[in-house]
Amino acid sequence: MVSRVIPVQAFDLVVFGGTGDLAKRKILPSLFRRFVAGQMPRDAFVIGVARSELDTKSYQDLVMSSLKEFEPELVASAELEIFIKQIKYVQIDAQGDFGWSDLADKVRKDAIQAFYFSVSPSLFGQLAEKLYKYSIASQSSRIVLEKPFGRDLSSARALNAVLKEHFSEDQIYRIDHYLGKETVQNLMAVRFGNMLFEPLWNSQYIDHIQVTVAESVGVEGRGSYYDQAGAMRDMIQNHLMQLLCLIAMEPPAKFSPDAVRDEKLKVIRALDPVNSSDIVRGQYSNSGSDKSYFDAVGNPSSKTESFIALKVQISNWRWAGTPFYLRTGKKLKARCSEIAVVFKETPHSIFGPDAGSHRNALVIRLQPDEGMTMDLTIKEPGPGGMRLIDVPLDMTFAEALGPEVDAIPDAYERLIMDVIRGNQTLFMRGDEVEAAWSWTDPVIDQWVSKGSKPSKYDPGSSGPEDSLMLMHKDGRKWREIS
Ligand code: NAP
Repeated sequence: MVSRVIPVQAFDLVVFGGTGDLAKRKILPSLFRRFVAGQMPRDAFVIGVARSELDTKSYQDLVMSSLKEFEPELVASAELEIFIKQIKYVQIDAQGDFGWSDLADKVRKDAIQAFYFSVSPSLFGQLAEKLYKYSIASQSSRIVLEKPFGRDLSSARALNAVLKEHFSEDQIYRIDHYLGKETVQNLMAVRFGNMLFEPLWNSQYIDHIQVTVAESVGVEGRGSYYDQAGAMRDMIQNHLMQLLCLIAMEPPAKFSPDAVRDEKLKVIRALDPVNSSDIVRGQYSNSGSDKSYFDAVGNPSSKTESFIALKVQISNWRWAGTPFYLRTGKKLKARCSEIAVVFKETPHSIFGPDAGSHRNALVIRLQPDEGMTMDLTIKEPGPGGMRLIDVPLDMTFAEALGPEVDAIPDAYERLIMDVIRGNQTLFMRGDEVEAAWSWTDPVIDQWVSKGSKPSKYDPGSSGPEDSLMLMHKDGRKWREIS
């Protein structure tokens, strides 16, 4: 396989929050990788912006040391010196007026302009306002927004309204980095590029779907943010919701931004409210030298969940009767993200009762080891009658695609290049985000109004016992987190 790299046009990418964790760990290394791959051209510039008193030279040094830390294999390349020269810095306090004229001088009018808001969402409105006030952005500029996009429907609506005062929807790129993952896009390719699956992709043939996003780490340095959010707001409302949409949506008429996003929106609007008996929340306890959730966030009375499992139903013709089980949590036994589409059993077994129960499952693995497997039922080899076993048909990309798989851009690389190309397909539209909050808010209200506390679970486990029961009571079972 030969990977194709098509250079994008000249651009100026302004990174507000250019000294922050996300810029250092993800945005700048991603740009460097696209530069090394030949996609970011020599007449493209990155302008870091933050309050820190730095000049361009000291910011370039900061970028250099971040790249050394996060891209150690690439920093020896001759391209590093050239890339660094394409980086500039402007000191600005988003809340004040200092520095904006300097930024206006640096941003070219004849290049693509993108403004990445890698700062607290509380600054989004002021940034949008100042870009307009100082005539820096034009009608063709793009703005890129990081999650969280609001913490409920009313804050998301307010944020959309403030952005729309100065930018139209086709200029706004709301990032959900899960959508930039290769396997997530492959989900659409598998569904809509093959004849094999789509006729079976409905409640007549699919028993249930389970989506797991498990992390082995705890809240780490994000304790104060996380304790205000919890797993429902931090993961389900955005990442797992997006995965659910791509699994459940109808085929769009074409692969264009609004055609895809219209179909995703219909899925969100068809979600049923969730019964309280179909929600399990958990909070990790301490173990050995591992801190408990309470200690990690410094709040011994916290009722925030670090784990959640839900049974979700979609009320439409395709999915009525097929439940979607979603679970995500921290400090679980492994880091693993996967979607398992579990098919129904055959209507009748010609092999008799001893053949046991067998279900095909298409497993789409997002991390680690991106790829897909299809569990098929075959005859157990050897003499002695017809015994059946389930074996995975492995479609791991690394094997099928060879060494070129290493050249596949990661989510941030792809998404930033999509911003420059002006392709919004993999970004969330404003109405989509609001619809997701409309469904999420009443789910959260259920436990907030009751003041209920999450159940405890051991670090390194699969979450609270109740989450296993969520499926057991329906005669189903979660896949192992591994
Ligand atoms: P961070 O490490 O706290 O960095 C914040 C950045 O904003 C710094 O560069 C800071 O620089 C700048 N800043 C703060 N106040 C400012 C102001 N008034 N004017 C101009 N610049 C200001 O945060 P982060 O982790 O990079 O996160 C940035 C955004 O991405 C947040 O919305 C976060 O929720 C989101 N996000 C982060 C991650 C992640 O992995 N880090 C993942 C997903 C989403 P100065 O102090 O020099 O001004």
